[in-house]
Amino acid sequence: MTRPRQVIGNWKMNTTRTEAVELAYRIGTVAPRSAVVGVAPPFPWLAPVADVLRGGSVQLGAQTCSAYAHGAYTGEVSAGMLAEACSFVLVGHSERRTLFSETDDIVRAKLKAALGAGLNAILCVGESLDEREAGEHELVVTRQLRAALDGVPGDAGDRITIAYEPVWAIGTGRNATPDDASTMAELILTASGELGLSNPQVLYGGSVNAANAESLIAGAAIGGFLVGGASLKADDFLAIVAAADV
Ligand code: PEP
Repeated sequence: MTRPRQVIGNWKMNTTRTEAVELAYRIGTVAPRSAVVGVAPPFPWLAPVADVLRGGSVQLGAQTCSAYAHGAYTGEVSAGMLAEACSFVLVGHSERRTLFSETDDIVRAKLKAALGAGLNAILCVGESLDEREAGEHELVVTRQLRAALDGVPGDAGDRITIAYEPVWAIGTGRNATPDDASTMAELILTASGELGLSNPQVLYGGSVNAANAESLIAGAAIGGFLVGGASLKADDFLAIVAAADV
C-alpha cells in the first residue's frame, strides 16, 4: 500500500519555550490534504508542544531516544517515556553519529528500542562529503541500512521511514540535486526490500527549503522531507508541506 507523503520538522536544539509553542500553533493550524506532517522539538518542549497540537493532525516526535529501557543512565530518555507523548522518533541523525559518537550498533539498538516501545522511527542515513567525492556513497548508505535493520522484523516496515540525508547537504544550503536524491532514494528502497523490510518509505533531507521542495519531490522515489533549518520558520515549513501535499 502506498504510504502518504511525510514532512517532518527537526527543530534540533533551537527555540525558546515561547517560540516552540508559537511555531507549533502556526503549524498545527494547517490542514494537509494527504501528507503526514510532524515536528520534533527539543525534549523540554515536548509537553507544551503536545498541548498545542492535541486534537489536530500534526504528529509529535523526538529527536533521539535511549537505546536502554530504564535504569542508571543519567541524562537519557527512554523510548517508552517518549511514547507517552510522541508518535515517532528520529534515530541515527548524522549529528548524533558524528558529534555524539553514535555507531551503527547504537543506532540499531535505538531503532529496536523505538519500535519496541510502539513508536514509529525515522532512520537517518547518508554519506559524508569525502565519501561522496570518493564515489562511496552507495556503499556507505547500504552499510548503514544493513547495520541498522539487522534483526528488525520485516513487518515493521510500515513503522520505519528512512531519511536519506547526505551529511554535506545538512545545514549547508547545498541540497542534493533532485536526480541524485531520487537515485539514492531508489537505491534505499531496493536495499530495504532486499533486507526484508515491507513497504519502506524514503524521505530526503538536506537544505530543503520553500524554493527547492517542488523539484525535489518530483522524484518518484521521494516520499517527503526531513527538514531542519527551514522547519523553524512556519511560513517556510508550510510552503514545503504544500509542495509535498498533493
Ligand atoms: C536535518 O538536520 O535533518 C536537516 C535536514 O537540516 P537542514 O534542513 O537544515 O539541512
